[in-house]
Amino acid sequence: MSLDALARCCPNWAEFRSIHAREAEIDAVAVRSSKAFTRVFQLRAISIGNEIRVSERLVGSTLPACCPERHINPGGSFCIGLRAGEGITDETAPAWWKKLHAFALWQETAEETGFWPSEAQLSHGEAGEVELAAENAADQLGLRAVYREAVAFDTGFIAAGVGRINAKTGMLRNGRSACICGRTDRGGRTLLRRDCHGNGLGCPIILEHRRRAMVGEYWRGLRGHVTCCGTMHECPLRAIDSKPST
Ligand SMILES: [Zn+2]
Ligand SMILES: [Zn+2]
Ligand SMILES: [Zn+2]
Repeated sequence: MSLDALARCCPNWAEFRSIHAREAEIDAVAVRSSKAFTRVFQLRAISIGNEIRVSERLVGSTLPACCPERHINPGGSFCIGLRAGEGITDETAPAWWKKLHAFALWQETAEETGFWPSEAQLSHGEAGEVELAAENAADQLGLRAVYREAVAFDTGFIAAGVGRINAKTGMLRNGRSACICGRTDRGGRTLLRRDCHGNGLGCPIILEHRRRAMVGEYWRGLRGHVTCCGTMHECPLRAIDSKPST
C-alpha cells in the first residue's frame, strides 16, 4: 500500500495521520533556504488505484484552488512531478516526500514573486514526457545545457533549429543536409535531417518542437474551462497573446 510506504518514511518537517486505508492527512511546514518556515500546509493524500493524489484538505485555503502555472490541477490536486504519485513503494516513497517538500518551497516563491521558479519548470501533462525524452537525447550529444536553454529562454542553437522546422510536417527543412543537432551514426557519419528523428533517442530539435506543440495544446484545452487565479504575473489563461511558458 503506497500510503503505508509514505507513512513509514515521513520526514521530520511533516506529520502523517492515517485516516483509513485510502486516505491520510499530512501537515507540512518546510524550512526555506533563508531558514524561515513556510506556511503550514494542511494536506490530504488519497490513494486512487495505483496512484496517490495530494491536495489541500480545504482546497483553495492556503493555495489557489487551481492554478496550472503553479502546478495545481483543476480540482486542487498537486502536480509535484511527472508521475510522482504512481506506484509508490518503500524505494520511491522518499523521493515523493522530497518532491512535496520542493513543491511547498516553490509555492512560497510563487506567492511572493508571482513567478514559478525556473528550476522547477517541467512541462505540463504529457509534454513532460517529451521534455524528458528530448533532454535525454540532448544529453547523449553533450547538449543538455543547450537544451535547457532552449526550454527556459528560447535561445541557443536548439531553439534556433526549432524555428527551421516545417510546421506542417514537424520535420526540419532541407532533409538532405546534415542535422543541426550534429548527431552521427555508429560509423561516425553525420545523420541527415530527415533520418535523425527516427534514430536512437531521437533528435532533440524535433522533440523540442513537439514539446512546444503539446504545451500549446495543454493551454488551449484549459482555456474557457479554467479561470486564472490572478496570483501569477504571467499566465497563459489570462492573456491569450502572452507567450505560453512550460
Ligand atoms: Zn493561477
Ligand atoms: Zn538531429
Ligand atoms: Zn492565471
